[in-house]
Amino acid sequence: MSLDAHRHKKQLGQHFLSSPGIVEKIIRAVNPKPGEFIVEIGPGGGALTFPLLRAHGELTVIEFDRDLIVPLAEEGAKHGKLTIVHRDVLKVDFGKLGHGHDVEGPLRLVGNLPYNISTPILFHVMEHAEAVKDMHFMLQKEVVDRMAAEPGSKTYGRLSVMLQAVCRVTPLFDVPPGAFTPPPKVDSAVVRLVPRPLGEAGVKDAAHFARTVAAAFSQRRKTLRNSLSTVCDADAIRAAGIDPGARAEAVAVEAYVTLSNQLIDAGIQPPEADAL
Ligand code: SAM
Repeated sequence: MSLDAHRHKKQLGQHFLSSPGIVEKIIRAVNPKPGEFIVEIGPGGGALTFPLLRAHGELTVIEFDRDLIVPLAEEGAKHGKLTIVHRDVLKVDFGKLGHGHDVEGPLRLVGNLPYNISTPILFHVMEHAEAVKDMHFMLQKEVVDRMAAEPGSKTYGRLSVMLQAVCRVTPLFDVPPGAFTPPPKVDSAVVRLVPRPLGEAGVKDAAHFARTVAAAFSQRRKTLRNSLSTVCDADAIRAAGIDPGARAEAVAVEAYVTLSNQLIDAGIQPPEADAL
């Protein structure tokens, strides 16, 4: 079957880009340089893949839909050297992806992500942040707003704190539903994520940090003294430089890092967190 005849699969979040202007803008934002190792998550019908291949010469893509693999390979060969990984991206070990390829080194990830699993993809990639140079992702605008939110704003929450502890988050531009086929129900946006140098944020234990942040935001309307009452007392909160009377949404990312690290030193484990 050809790529043109492909029937979009809703369960795989298949909204394919159909605006050459937006494709061009994404490629300009990525600005691929010779020798870089670029990996696209979810190439779909190749809207980004083939222009990226033409701009860069070679590209690795990760696609789960078996119906797309052969047509992508056939069309891809006309544009450059395309390596296709037929896999669920959530099962890909990004730390090992470069091995055996001509190009190695830090990954540059690109993708118009399937929105139904965009947060799990973000967290999976964050676990391999040391292998990644940067990421350019298309996501729901609402998710991008939450990722980039600053303390004190309504959208600042667990997602903002968890991502900003690992990455610098820069929203680049918005994309309307009409730029896709079929159009999604929501607005989209392209975001750039650049992992912070290892140790810069100072998180001692990622799992502990995740549980601390989840506990703090478990009751948004309450003060931290209340929402963290099952974890630690007000003195422990104060010791991290945080006002126990503050709400979770007012506290900076760095303060959560300090709190988690100090709880570790005190031997305190917050309860298991729900998935984000
Ligand atoms: N990049 C194309 C474009 O912009 O037109 C397609 C983007 S579409 C929003 C998301 C793509 O991710 C689809 O091709 C879909 O099949 C693929 N996908 C969905 N779930 C996936 C998974 N778990 N692992 C890898 N690819 C997946």
